[in-house]
Amino acid sequence: MAFSTELTEEQVELRDWVHGFAKDVMRPAAHEWDEREETPWPVIQEAAKIGLYSFESLATWFGDPTGLSVPVTQEELFWGDAGIGLAIMGTGLAVAGIFAAGTPDQLVEWVPQCFGDEKDPKVAAFCSSEPEAGSDVSNMRTRAVYDEANDEWVINGAKAWATNGGIANVHVVQAVVDKDLGSRGQAAFIVPPGTAGLTSTKKIKKHGLRASHTADLFLDEVRVPGRCLLGGKDKLDEKLARAREGRKGGSQAAMATFELTRPTVGAMAVGIARAAYEYSLEYAKGRVTFGRPIIENQSISFLLADIKTEIDAARLLVWRAAYMGRNNVPFANAEGSMSKLKAGRVATWSTERAIQILGGNGYTREHPVERWHRDAKIFEIFEGTEQIQQLVIARAISGLHLR
Ligand SMILES: Cc1cc2nc3c(=O)[nH]c(=O)nc-3n(C[C@H](O)[C@H](O)[C@H](O)COP(=O)(O)OP(=O)(O)OC[C@H]3O[C@@H](n4cnc5c(N)ncnc54)[C@H](O)[C@@H]3O)c2cc1C
Repeated sequence: MAFSTELTEEQVELRDWVHGFAKDVMRPAAHEWDEREETPWPVIQEAAKIGLYSFESLATWFGDPTGLSVPVTQEELFWGDAGIGLAIMGTGLAVAGIFAAGTPDQLVEWVPQCFGDEKDPKVAAFCSSEPEAGSDVSNMRTRAVYDEANDEWVINGAKAWATNGGIANVHVVQAVVDKDLGSRGQAAFIVPPGTAGLTSTKKIKKHGLRASHTADLFLDEVRVPGRCLLGGKDKLDEKLARAREGRKGGSQAAMATFELTRPTVGAMAVGIARAAYEYSLEYAKGRVTFGRPIIENQSISFLLADIKTEIDAARLLVWRAAYMGRNNVPFANAEGSMSKLKAGRVATWSTERAIQILGGNGYTREHPVERWHRDAKIFEIFEGTEQIQQLVIARAISGLHLR
């Protein structure tokens, strides 16, 4: 399949359908849920009702052989609102974790439980970060020990900043199974609904994305059945043996998840940037100072020209990486990381400039650009910070294991 930026008829229909939901349901609800700092369950329910929030939808988007349905839908949702967007799509990160490491049987058992059904939608959480292990995944402390007699894994530790942590039906938890192997001694586990010992210690108050629930978690003697080890015990034993012998293969589970999701996250950032661009363009045409619309000043119109150019450049990088990921084209120069690095920067910069274009109005909560700016900043932090993307790209282009 060749890379093309021309959307098919089906992709255009999909984009317009998601855009309709973003415009008519998410936008009008955005301010309220940002202020309430709560998970917008009624909006998630609405999305589930029309089939937008469901395993089937996600599978169809990811199944698109061009790879473009995913970024196209994410851009529209996050154009609608990033906080609600993440409340809807946070589950996708856990699902990606199950896809990256799970067996077909595990997919069938757990993915539907991540979503629930249209009458009673559920969410899922992917829990990798810890207080001492965000960028430095190799410093993870959460331990999983196999209890052979009962065929159970016993997990103990603390997780930080988990999207949907504590409110999720299914938690996907990364843990160390062999501490001598660093990041190669880690595995991913399903913590099924209602498992004893997993508690949410703190809901985090945030700068932005306030409609998305973020929490710290504590795992105290959490016992999960042997079948909850993603990929299964034989595969894990093989991977550990390879790592002990210093052989290559068996990428870190958390890293494998992030590789899959970076262009998707980049598309979300593009959506926020586009929202700010469109809003500030219209504002600049209507706002009159010194007897003429402010867009007639080159300092404003050239700025808007730059914002538009940067957004299109970011989208092209995102689409390229999404196409490559879907078609198994190796990310020789870390193109996935490039797309997220660029899109995160463009979103933060564009939304900040949009505030400038709106002047005093931009700084108030009467207009959405200040919210978009707060929301955009996270895209330089989560799923690998700006510096970690640079590190990944620098390693790829240099061939050196830079640290
Ligand atoms: C809203 C939100 C939602 C999140 N959701 C999830 C989730 O669902 N699941 C999950 O597992 N995690 C989640 N996270 C955690 C997020 O992925 C981490 O915060 C992120 O990876 C950064 O880790 P850290 O905060 O520990 O920063 P640190 O690793 O402490 O980094 C601090 C600073 O140092 C820089 N730095 C670190 N190491 C290097 C280096 N080697 N070279 C150069 N600079 C470096 C970083 O770039 C950063 O600027 C979420 C975080 C937030 C805020």
